[in-house]
Amino acid sequence: MTHGADRAAYERALTGSSRLFAVWPGEWSSHLFVIDDLDEYAKAHGIKHDEVRTGLKEHVHDVRWEETSYGNDNPRSPYLSIDVSLDCGCTIHDLRTFAAQMEAQRGWDVATSVGWGSSGGPEGTKYGMRVRRKSLTG
Ligand SMILES: [Zn+2]
Repeated sequence: MTHGADRAAYERALTGSSRLFAVWPGEWSSHLFVIDDLDEYAKAHGIKHDEVRTGLKEHVHDVRWEETSYGNDNPRSPYLSIDVSLDCGCTIHDLRTFAAQMEAQRGWDVATSVGWGSSGGPEGTKYGMRVRRKSLTG
């Protein structure tokens, strides 16, 4: 028996070669639960893409971006503040997921440890984020 919430455990459970359990430590005894909803388990641990939670479809996004008029005062900063618009209809609820998708799709290096935000306007929602300058090629 192994423990941990990784992809390998999920895949073993999917193929039926092992089962996933959750242990709930109690005062007198520990309760053992069998995880029977693998789909929910995978989404909760970020193993499986969750479109509802992240607001993001698993596709190549139709992205427009522009430098913001603020936050780019330091030309030597490795990061650039940009406004991102998604023409494909996706919304960003989870920046980490979006960052991973953009890294795969365009090679962007999105800063996920700093604040980000969204603003609505006549042209739709814009998402402000910081992206490493050199990675912004397209
Ligand atoms: Zn999209």
